[in-house]
Amino acid sequence: MSEYKAPLRDMQFAMDEILGYQSHYASLPNGEECSPDMVDAILQEAAKFSESVIAPLNSVGDEEGCQWNEGKVTTPTGFKDAYQQYTENGWAGLSQKPELGGQGLPISLNNVVYEMLVTANHAWSMYASLSWGAVSTIEAHASEDLRQLYMPAVIDGSWSGTMCLTEAHSGSDLGLLRTKATPNEDGSYAISGSKMFISSGDHDLTENIIHIVLARLPDAPTGVKGISLFIVPKIQVNQDGSLGESNNVSCGSIEHKMGINGNATCVINFDDSKGHLIAQPNKGMSAMFTFINESRLGVAQQGHSHIEASYQAALAYAKDRLQMRAPVPQNPEKPADPIIVHPDVRRMLFTQKAFAEGGRVLNYYCAQLVDIVHANQDAAAVESAQSQLALLIPITKGFLTEASLEATSNGIQILGGHGYIREWGQEQHYRDARITAIYEGTNGIQGLDLLGRKILGSGGKVMGPFVEKVRAFCQANSGSVYAQTTEKALDQWLTLIDKLGVVAAKDRNEVNAAAYDHLMFAGYTVLAYFWAQSAVVAEQAIAAGSDETEFYQAKIATARFYFERILPRIDSIATMITSGSDNLMDLPAEAF
Ligand SMILES: Cc1cc2nc3c(=O)[nH]c(=O)nc-3n(C[C@H](O)[C@H](O)[C@H](O)COP(=O)(O)OP(=O)(O)OC[C@H]3O[C@@H](n4cnc5c(N)ncnc54)[C@H](O)[C@@H]3O)c2cc1C
Repeated sequence: MSEYKAPLRDMQFAMDEILGYQSHYASLPNGEECSPDMVDAILQEAAKFSESVIAPLNSVGDEEGCQWNEGKVTTPTGFKDAYQQYTENGWAGLSQKPELGGQGLPISLNNVVYEMLVTANHAWSMYASLSWGAVSTIEAHASEDLRQLYMPAVIDGSWSGTMCLTEAHSGSDLGLLRTKATPNEDGSYAISGSKMFISSGDHDLTENIIHIVLARLPDAPTGVKGISLFIVPKIQVNQDGSLGESNNVSCGSIEHKMGINGNATCVINFDDSKGHLIAQPNKGMSAMFTFINESRLGVAQQGHSHIEASYQAALAYAKDRLQMRAPVPQNPEKPADPIIVHPDVRRMLFTQKAFAEGGRVLNYYCAQLVDIVHANQDAAAVESAQSQLALLIPITKGFLTEASLEATSNGIQILGGHGYIREWGQEQHYRDARITAIYEGTNGIQGLDLLGRKILGSGGKVMGPFVEKVRAFCQANSGSVYAQTTEKALDQWLTLIDKLGVVAAKDRNEVNAAAYDHLMFAGYTVLAYFWAQSAVVAEQAIAAGSDETEFYQAKIATARFYFERILPRIDSIATMITSGSDNLMDLPAEAF
């Protein structure tokens, strides 16, 4: 099995050469410590930790899975020790507030570290990453007392967090949820109900687990307008922060599932468990979006990480595996050529590479926007970043997770029969990646959010700041064929949206019928923008006499592949979208 190696050079290309992270850090009040040396030292250490401690547990977690025994959940061998090292070395609080025990570094830097942790081991990384969403939600919506009580221990990693939304009958449609919250005399609430599919819902890594729970107050309106948000600890917390009594939170079972077996997916039962209301009553759904948006970007990273991991393993194999001859033999002294000479293998490898490296820039760009929203003091910059994130979150989550399914399938195919065999690790990437298109809002729901709620719902306004950026880049680099093609794709996208706006006004089915395909159209177009930038920067570096010509030439070759063999998919997608909704809706359900 191939070993994970953090692609530090490519990360640095995305951070510094494309996205200007150094000047970005200089613009943030919490970025002044981020000198190039400091950033480099953090990334080197994170790479070492991910490669040597976390990655070796990836197949262990898959094979052993988590165990449930009389309500207690045990994680796979080595997970607890790795988690201890993670907290002891201060990784848990890297971008958390210093006044609560964190190190206060920019979120985008934590995101690069996160890439390494997830690529090394998706299942393990979820024990850490859900805590960040819980912290942000508590910070954004809870009272100062609750923040002081709950945040420090989650920040230092001695407690972990979860998000408890889903119930057996309530998945995409959270308006159906039934978990109840009844006021107690002391101002707290008694929470009762059963949540399903809760990631990291119970485990043996931390001494307490802080659940962020959606529930209904008595007499709450039906639907999403009657949902409130609560903190419910597994073990009650005394006023001085010490652990108190059990809080009647139990794990009823864990799921036996297709992938991410090292992460416990739990049924969590609340039985008059003591909880605290955060945010306004009945406004829980919009408050939960703090967690949901952060998690959607995290899931985009998970998709991207599987692309990277699968690519690394497939590339090593393709250089090593000898089968058949190229038209002109490349390896005459050996019985056959390595399979990387074959065009079809190159097609699959290039597809992985284009999604891995382009997807990295897209993810890092979103993380940069998150930094701006959290820490920049320029109101116009914050507004622009918020608008861009509103547009890019569903695209990044939906597109990169769909791309991960294609790329990890390619990874199996490149290894031929060996790709299908567990020992080589490729099939685990495929199985582990599969959930990313489902949780945090299925990609069908991302498509609806993007087209219906965000784009058409804002009369197209949400697109303004991002479109302006793309347009400015294309016009400033109008000599680049890649910039020209990007601008053409952008115009096609805008025209498509205009057409959809017209048909949607007549028939609501048109939006739903177009939503998924439109999401993919948007994803290919957005990725074109980042590949065009990569090509332009690489061309400039070569022209300036860089001694890394091989690195930059590979960028230009991958950009060319992307523009000539991947981006043209948008033309057929546009044809599918404009075929209308009748071809989906005319057949009555009973006639299927
Ligand atoms: C391993 C795992 C981990 C998870 N972790 C968590 C967690 O930590 N916390 C948590 O709260 N939940 C978690 N979930 C739940 C997950 O978020 C849900 O499974 C997901 O939101 C989909 O809900 P559902 O399974 O009920 O599917 P459904 O909502 O029943 O959807 C079924 C299908 O119908 C489609 N569909 C539904 N409505 C529409 C519509 N209006 N238009 C178009 N298509 C539609 C969906 O896209 C999907 O394809 C997890 C699930 C799994 C499997």
